[in-house]
Amino acid sequence: LPPTYGMYKVLANTNAIENKEVLLVDDFQLDVNAILAEVDANTKLIFICSPNNPTGNLIASKAIETILSSFNGIIVIDEAYIDFAEAESWTTRLQEFQNLIVTQTLSKAYGMAGIRLGMCFASKEIISILNKIKPPYNVNVLTQQVALKRILEEENVQLEITKLISEREKLMNQLNTINFINHSYKTDANFILVKVDDANKRYKQLIENGIVIRNRSTQPLCENTLRFTVGTASENEKLITTLKSISKS
Ligand SMILES: *Cc1c(COP(=O)(O)O)cnc(C)c1O
Repeated sequence: LPPTYGMYKVLANTNAIENKEVLLVDDFQLDVNAILAEVDANTKLIFICSPNNPTGNLIASKAIETILSSFNGIIVIDEAYIDFAEAESWTTRLQEFQNLIVTQTLSKAYGMAGIRLGMCFASKEIISILNKIKPPYNVNVLTQQVALKRILEEENVQLEITKLISEREKLMNQLNTINFINHSYKTDANFILVKVDDANKRYKQLIENGIVIRNRSTQPLCENTLRFTVGTASENEKLITTLKSISKS
């Protein structure tokens, strides 16, 4: 459901699985009727990313509920950014929906992308099928050890998340003062998507100043957009100073 995370399409392609796309609509929400209209006898999975990447918004629960109860297949809700969101996780709704899979990861709020560990939550029936088709090799011991250590310091993780969210609000306010930023989108993730005058030009200027962000302009509905990941206080300050100085050209 673009604009969204690119890996679903990549994995479908490498597994020779047909991938259908239905664009998001106003405020990057689901077009429920269009999605259900695209479903045919071969449609097995629908991927919904909430909060969505690169747009940052949560997907409205009502729309997801409608799809969960109308679609005779599996819905995967990708919650990679759920720790930064106000909303409750869909893991709390698993009893209600037998066709729901929720995925999460230690790569974002837990800051451990390098250990390659994620989680999948679903009904017993779905998990038992996944257990049958998964390779016999399990999560490696080094990853397990590092993940356990991190999970045991959950309080620190929560403090970091709180800090990131307050930095996010500060950064959002400051981005809104930059003259070439025309709009900043509401976000429930650890990044902010903005619309600018000329994304390629601004991206290049930032690179020249040693700052790497994401230029999302080639994604549908994302013309001239840039995605800023919320950094530490000093990284965010450096970003704003640089944006102010390049805004003069
Ligand atoms: C980062 C990300 C993931 C997961 O990344 P892994 O490092 O593979 O766990 C999943 N979905 C979205 C939308 C992401 O941005």
